[in-house]
Amino acid sequence: MAEEKRRCMVCGKEKEMADTICDECKASIRGEALDKHKQIKKDAEREFRKEGVKPEK
Ligand SMILES: [Zn+2]
Repeated sequence: MAEEKRRCMVCGKEKEMADTICDECKASIRGEALDKHKQIKKDAEREFRKEGVKPEK
């Protein structure tokens, strides 16, 4: 089955893809989600330190 040319929901570029989002955007979304997750964790640890509470592990 050949892939159709579709417009990516994220970047709006027309590409041949099987999904509604192109691979590039999929990868960047995944990367952003990961970065956000790391940032949230970093912020949380900073909050803990500020209050003098050590995060349990
Ligand atoms: Zn895209």
